[in-house]
Amino acid sequence: MKTIDGHTARKRFGQNFLVSAGVIHKIVDAVGARNGDTVVEIGPGLGALTEPLLERIEPLHVVEIDRDLIARLRQRFAPERLTIHEGDALEFDFGALKQNNARLKIVGNLPYNISSPLLFHLVGYAPQIHDMHFMLQKEVVDRMVAAPGSGTFGRLSVMLQYRFHMERLFIVPPGSFNPPPKVDSAIVRMIPVDFAKVDAEHTASNNDVFAKVVTTAFSQRRKMLRNTLRALIDESALQRLGITPTARAEDLGVTDFVRIANSLGDIR
Ligand code: SAM
Repeated sequence: MKTIDGHTARKRFGQNFLVSAGVIHKIVDAVGARNGDTVVEIGPGLGALTEPLLERIEPLHVVEIDRDLIARLRQRFAPERLTIHEGDALEFDFGALKQNNARLKIVGNLPYNISSPLLFHLVGYAPQIHDMHFMLQKEVVDRMVAAPGSGTFGRLSVMLQYRFHMERLFIVPPGSFNPPPKVDSAIVRMIPVDFAKVDAEHTASNNDVFAKVVTTAFSQRRKMLRNTLRALIDESALQRLGITPTARAEDLGVTDFVRIANSLGDIR
């Protein structure tokens, strides 16, 4: 077991603490918080990002699950500077922090073991969010930003690319953490799509139907769409939408999935 500053890193909470000053400053610069913003850090841990974020913005909100770390944060930072939300980020209501016109920014070196469910949880708050900057496993970031036709393009790519403009900013090697993870990490920037500025044909009329089409299409990613989507749409209807029935889910673009979903109405 690895002890850092008297704290034993907990694997079950995905605790790999940032120790590289260079990486920490690059992340804080990328976040670009300024006065008047509402900033929330997920998983502040031992405060590697918290402290430099507080130099830019006060008060700062943090969501942390580990009680030992919460006790340390309470000792170190005055409550008027740092608002600590004790609990599970997967259940946290990020929308409750949105204030009038203040930009809501979310940041975090995320616990890798819950990264996908956390990203899906955050999708629900996209309309209230200004931007998000996260450290994740590089492999996950690569899936998030993957282009159609690539082997890494999947459900995560489509569901997130529909809602966010995403950019991989830089790669962070294992030696930047204590304890070091086994794999490379990367920083991703996510900016919600402004649907007021998007053509109707690129907007799903029913989010549940859209999610169902995407999940069904990728449930057997090697199979042809005419087979995977059989229960939802038939071959001739796919053809009428300009989609090749023998194509596979990974060959379609995000707007193709939207077109299929919108042709189905409010089904099932
Ligand atoms: N931000 C610190 C850093 O960069 O050194 C710590 C990052 S560490 C990878 C992940 C942090 O998320 C830990 O502090 C961990 O306790 C916290 N965490 C893990 N699961 C969580 C959850 N479900 N909700 C909130 N925080 C969580």
